[in-house]
Amino acid sequence: MARARALHIAIVGYGTAGQAAAVLLAADGHVPEVFERVPWPGPVGAGFLLQPTGLAVLWRMGLLDTVLGHGRRIGRLYGRTAAGRAVMDMRYRELDPRLFGLGLQRGALFSILDSAWQGARALHAGCAIAAIDCERGLLTDQQGRRHGPYDLVVVADGAASALRGQLGPARLDRPFPWGARWCLVDQGGWAWPGELQQRYVSARRMAGMLPVGTRPGDARPLMSFFWSEPVSALDSAACDEGAWRRDLAAVWPEAADCLAPVPVPAGLAVARYRDTVPRDWHRGRAVLIGDAAHAMSPQLGQGVTWPCSMPWPCATTCARPSRSRCRRVSPATPGSAAATWASTTSGAAG
Ligand SMILES: Cc1cc2nc3c(=O)[nH]c(=O)nc-3n(C[C@H](O)[C@H](O)[C@H](O)COP(=O)(O)OP(=O)(O)OC[C@H]3O[C@@H](n4cnc5c(N)ncnc54)[C@H](O)[C@@H]3O)c2cc1C
Repeated sequence: MARARALHIAIVGYGTAGQAAAVLLAADGHVPEVFERVPWPGPVGAGFLLQPTGLAVLWRMGLLDTVLGHGRRIGRLYGRTAAGRAVMDMRYRELDPRLFGLGLQRGALFSILDSAWQGARALHAGCAIAAIDCERGLLTDQQGRRHGPYDLVVVADGAASALRGQLGPARLDRPFPWGARWCLVDQGGWAWPGELQQRYVSARRMAGMLPVGTRPGDARPLMSFFWSEPVSALDSAACDEGAWRRDLAAVWPEAADCLAPVPVPAGLAVARYRDTVPRDWHRGRAVLIGDAAHAMSPQLGQGVTWPCSMPWPCATTCARPSRSRCRRVSPATPGSAAATWASTTSGAAG
């Protein structure tokens, strides 16, 4: 196949999607330039379950062994009511004996992707982009400075994207009525080290515990805890520590024990989500990826997996000599890649 020329590509946002795009595009010989509004970029959130599609993309990046070295293999997703009735019981091996999910700390993924972005890095931290000229590939930051033109602008500014609307109106864009409190706790002698465990109070509330392994520089295995609450209850001033702990203990005493050393609510991060489906995910030279392209509650099981997977079709398309790049992108590509990965790597066995 004819090799495309190296493209000068702006990436807006250095979350998981922006990081994965920078790694993949730089590896293909393109020249990514990243704009991140936060002055000191770092991981936000606790831990997550990477699905096989996300693992396939990490495999393509040559990072699968590194993430497997830190993450915790998850073979089963199990949830039951406080009264003991099983509501969810899924095993990856029933889909394919070689498949599994990987519980991973967000800090681990951030630093692994950050170290993998090789070559001359152009990361403009503390630079928020305010406007995109999609047709000419130009960016304007909040100080009014112009950047570009770029061959391609990858918009990866997350669920609350302020730039998405500049590519076109959304089909759906609304805050999710439920959010969550999250934290990391020591794994200790937890009884389910290879499973995502959840507990439900009818269909209204959910607590979850996911083993997420270690991260570079810290060998302690941790678990990611979450407790879903309506957004109206997420205001910390309204949170009574004693009542909160009693609520959790009534649903899941083992999880309440793990939370004993965590200050409540100060030690719990609050997450709010959006439901977003844009009408068009590309316009001119600009393309949306990650939560900017399709935000949903991470409790639906995709969370970081999508932002990790989406840059792949984007990078694959940039490797083609066609001018009409974005139209050729197939969102199904990471899925078929998961099958390829599963059939070629022995690391996936077990
Ligand atoms: C608090 C919180 C906790 C979460 N915890 C989990 C979890 O434990 N497990 C899980 O699976 N999912 C979790 N999620 C969901 C998960 O974070 C997202 O699905 C995933 O991070 C999306 O990745 P992204 O790169 O698309 O966006 P983000 O990770 O949101 O990254 C977007 C980046 O763009 C930057 N940015 C925004 N606007 C601009 C701008 N104008 N100019 C320049 N830069 C900009 C932001 O600072 C940010 O660094 C959580 C979400 C939140 C909000």
